[in-house]
Amino acid sequence: MSGSWIQQIPTLPLEPGVYIFYGKNDEVLYVGKSKCLRKRVKNYADLKGDSRPFIPHLHEEAHRLEFLVTDTEKEALLLENQLIVKLNPKYNILFRQDTTYISIKITIKHPFPRLMLTRQVKKDGALYFGPYTSGKALRETLHFIKSFFRIRTCSNSEFKRRKRACLLYQIDRCTAPCVGKVSEKEYKKKVEDLVRFLQGKNRIILDELEKKMARASEKLDFERAIKYRDQIKALEATLEKQKVLSLDQKDYDVVAIFQKDGKAAIQMLFIRGGKLLTSHAKLVTSWEKPETLLGSFLKHYYLSNVYIPQE
Ligand code: SF4
Repeated sequence: MSGSWIQQIPTLPLEPGVYIFYGKNDEVLYVGKSKCLRKRVKNYADLKGDSRPFIPHLHEEAHRLEFLVTDTEKEALLLENQLIVKLNPKYNILFRQDTTYISIKITIKHPFPRLMLTRQVKKDGALYFGPYTSGKALRETLHFIKSFFRIRTCSNSEFKRRKRACLLYQIDRCTAPCVGKVSEKEYKKKVEDLVRFLQGKNRIILDELEKKMARASEKLDFERAIKYRDQIKALEATLEKQKVLSLDQKDYDVVAIFQKDGKAAIQMLFIRGGKLLTSHAKLVTSWEKPETLLGSFLKHYYLSNVYIPQE
């Protein structure tokens, strides 16, 4: 064990920041953050005070310590996360940036909102739904949304430029607001229905369709009644695939961890509007206790611009 970092402890600042343990040949061993650097690093010097399995190894291998002072603890948290991704320290768990989290975005600030897919959830006034981790679930949902709600998917510049509706209008996948084939009010109603669908409030949409079908039948407008009947069937088929897990219709992310022999399995369930939207599993090598691993995972996951539910 090299004691140089222990001698450094009394000189460390009493401020928030990030600390980095280095081993022989400047190998990066561990990156951590704290609201008081001196107090935190002092805990590492007491082998009995920290029961994490990798601590004895860190004591054995650590040769020197570096630190970076930050203005706030939150800044330290962000910096710690960036350094873990950049330096890949031996005793931190590296949750690689997942490329599979995709959300559905609706740009509701626009008079004729656009439907699009994105990997980045931003505070830009748009509505985000997801995440979708399974390509199949996303494809099925999108297929239904495009044919049922017929919301535009083109970019704003394309929307402004159009003199004629594109092919999506011809194949009944868009109502063509670009050339005024639908009023702003009618389009807004479609967007509201889409939002309710994505929030899991599907009963309201089904009731409306059933009423419309009945009215069309009363007026002997059978062509229209058949159209509504087909829409009801398509919606019911989509809903059948969504399992109800909670009756309160809230959004939840559920995270479970199972750890054994230095390996850990992390399972996430994404529940939206009380229904299981999708799930995702990860396997990692972990030296940490399950609660520390869970904390690291949650930090990593929610710092990567994803939708954060109420619970
Ligand atoms: S029909 Fe018009 S509004 Fe719809 S996707 Fe095509 S260009 Fe965009």
